[in-house]
Amino acid sequence: MRRPLVAGNWKMYKNAQQAGELARAIVAQVGQGRGAVDVVVCPPFTSLQAVGEALAGTGIALGAQNMHWENEGAFTGEVSPEMILTTGCTYVILGHSERRQYFAETDEQVNRKLKAALRAGLAPIVCVGETLEQREAGRIEDVVLGQVQAALQGLSEAELLKIALAYEPVWAIGTGRTATPAQAEEVHSLIRSCLRQHYGAGVADALRLQYGGSVKPENAAELFAQQNIDGGLIGGAALKADSFAAIVKAAC
Ligand code: PEP
Repeated sequence: MRRPLVAGNWKMYKNAQQAGELARAIVAQVGQGRGAVDVVVCPPFTSLQAVGEALAGTGIALGAQNMHWENEGAFTGEVSPEMILTTGCTYVILGHSERRQYFAETDEQVNRKLKAALRAGLAPIVCVGETLEQREAGRIEDVVLGQVQAALQGLSEAELLKIALAYEPVWAIGTGRTATPAQAEEVHSLIRSCLRQHYGAGVADALRLQYGGSVKPENAAELFAQQNIDGGLIGGAALKADSFAAIVKAAC
């Protein structure tokens, strides 16, 4: 049995004070009875410290939304794996579609970041997903499985087991248009078969596959009930403690 993973991606919302308040509200609402679910919140870099303090000792983990692959250097505006680790992060989101779309992040860079995150001892959540145009052109499999294989290139089995993959169809992110449970399960099942074929049953059966894209309290339980969906990566609905708590409950 895979342990569900529910992560909140706060994107570029909340200053440090607001983020600390949201984290404390999440602790109050999610803290009790989250059972066998791993819960992570990923605020902006500037709020990692404040949120880390609010989460200390609660069992809710802290994650970053991105990082560079180098540990230090002349990379103005970037933040290293080591830097996020020292704020208390144990997770990091990599290859989010907004990074790919607005910051031209490539599969090759995602792979470099993934290797650096693993070297640093962080648990990466690697995002993949097709655009609406690619879906309508019948290219889901080629795009999504291509992203998966490019991201995972050169990793050992032990490393693969530390990763979670988030399938996030780009057309469902922040649009209110969720993939139906059947649409999501179809792609999750393709990803798991691809993992089985390339890395064996041990990796395929253990690796957690999250769904992301307009997950809300109203649709979470049905999505999470699918055989190959092991929790979610939540954007908009993670910015309110009550909706995030309800989504965590749906994964219990
Ligand atoms: C996300 O940012 O990863 C996401 C899934 O956003 P939303 O839930 O708002 O669609």
